[in-house]
Amino acid sequence: MIHFVGAGPGAPDLITVRGKNLIERCDQLIYAGSLVNPELLDFAKKDCRIHDSAPLTLEDVMELFVEGEKDGLLTVRLHTGDPSIYGAVREQMDGLAARSIPFDVTPGVSAFCGAAAALKAEYTLPDVSQTLIISRVSGRTATPPGEDLAALAAHGASMALFLSASLTDTARQKLLEGGLPPETPAALVYKATWPEQRIVRGTVGGLPEMRQALGTDKTALILAGRFLGDEYGRSKLYDPSFEHGYRGKRTI
Ligand code: SAH
Repeated sequence: MIHFVGAGPGAPDLITVRGKNLIERCDQLIYAGSLVNPELLDFAKKDCRIHDSAPLTLEDVMELFVEGEKDGLLTVRLHTGDPSIYGAVREQMDGLAARSIPFDVTPGVSAFCGAAAALKAEYTLPDVSQTLIISRVSGRTATPPGEDLAALAAHGASMALFLSASLTDTARQKLLEGGLPPETPAALVYKATWPEQRIVRGTVGGLPEMRQALGTDKTALILAGRFLGDEYGRSKLYDPSFEHGYRGKRTI
């Protein structure tokens, strides 16, 4: 059996209880290189076979899965954050299904959640944005034409850009092209929830300078939108004059 597990954004205590239990029980652990905090590997049994997938191809990983099954091993495939976001898991799951090898998925805390926590931010603020766009700057993996970053930016929604910290020039250009004012708040969050976490705040117009200030283009998210600003409306859910299924109106 293969268990895909989301490792969370970095801090070892941000993996789910289920994910940790699976690491403790597994006989073979294949983890996604530098993105996974090595402290999570300490949860594994002493005789667990541990593989770093960074130098491996999909075919290599499939071979480890198949060999593990032959040996009756319980395998954990540990992906950073949540496996469903830029995890390259679909091709692995399809490969397993084609070989009739059973698998399941344990979700994880994605980096965009870790980054919001680091910033103490909320993506979905009333009167600001009720939509979060998760995307990336078109790079070596091109985004489909309908998902050009400028077109996405035109919505004015909150944005979290993965895999793009080395492309802040393009990010800036596309976000401005999409109509975001250059003074729109932005943040770079490096290694959210890791001990070495760093945050650089600024504006969309200043993204390249922010990257210089950050001093790295690895393991960072670009966040942009008015949700990082100071103005928003208060929620209806907790508004005394608003009534819903679990609470009547209140007079104050
Ligand atoms: N599945 C992962 C994303 C994998 S893609 C998730 O759900 O978070 C790898 C990219 O994720 C990195 O290039 C970076 O943009 C982002 N990332 C991963 N961990 C991060 C962290 N702790 N802080 C900031 N960005 C992170």
